[in-house]
Amino acid sequence: MTTTISPLIAGNWKMNGTRASLDELTALAGMLTTGEAPRALVVICPPATILAAVARQGASAGIQAGGQDCHPAASGAHTGDLAAGMLADAGAQYVIVGHSERRANHAETDDLVRLKAEAAIGAGLKPIICVGETEAQRDSGQAETIVAGQLAGSIPDAASQHEVIVAYEPVWAIGTGRTPTNDDIAKMHASIRHKLVERFGDKGATVRILYGGSLKPQNAREILQVENVNGGLVGGASLLAKDFYTIISAV
Ligand code: PEP
Repeated sequence: MTTTISPLIAGNWKMNGTRASLDELTALAGMLTTGEAPRALVVICPPATILAAVARQGASAGIQAGGQDCHPAASGAHTGDLAAGMLADAGAQYVIVGHSERRANHAETDDLVRLKAEAAIGAGLKPIICVGETEAQRDSGQAETIVAGQLAGSIPDAASQHEVIVAYEPVWAIGTGRTPTNDDIAKMHASIRHKLVERFGDKGATVRILYGGSLKPQNAREILQVENVNGGLVGGASLLAKDFYTIISAV
């Protein structure tokens, strides 16, 4: 892990969680405040229905909250969508944009993801911009090219002045229990870093690059110490306080 960038571990609860899940948050808060102080910033991105409760309840333990998506517009006739400003109003400080499940299930393009990231920045949120190749793209040797294209299209120019976070999440590793080798992670993160520095200069050297995809208590320590891995985006293993705490403690 690059030592000059403070690490961040974000939990993506996806479409899991009701008010009963706040018990896990209470348990995590207890672990974070009684154990050794975490070396990582801790963020939880719950479903929007409990976002305000997570933001309120997590604050005393230093747990920050994030949304899982936002609309590019600030308001308007977009039934069922949420504006970045609404997430901020509910207490979010971050928002995930361009998750592969949204890219696949809602046909989100790089252009749309970039507009969402711009909206997030405009609302004072830090966008966590997800990129990652499919298994077929990796097998055909295109992984780095695909990710480079996603970075170019999804990261707004405003990243030169504002904080953005990149999450590299190989699509084939999400929720599958499979992970790339540490060498493959190092290679991809180095390539992402190179692209960020090429485009944003010194600012690009400070952008956090998270790894996501079947990050678990069992593999967190080795993955989180790979060069240019500045933390993780965690799906399934963020749902249980004990597992998520073990990952946070692995930093
Ligand atoms: C994710 O969906 O962002 C993710 C990383 O999921 P999982 O950890 O379950 O693979």
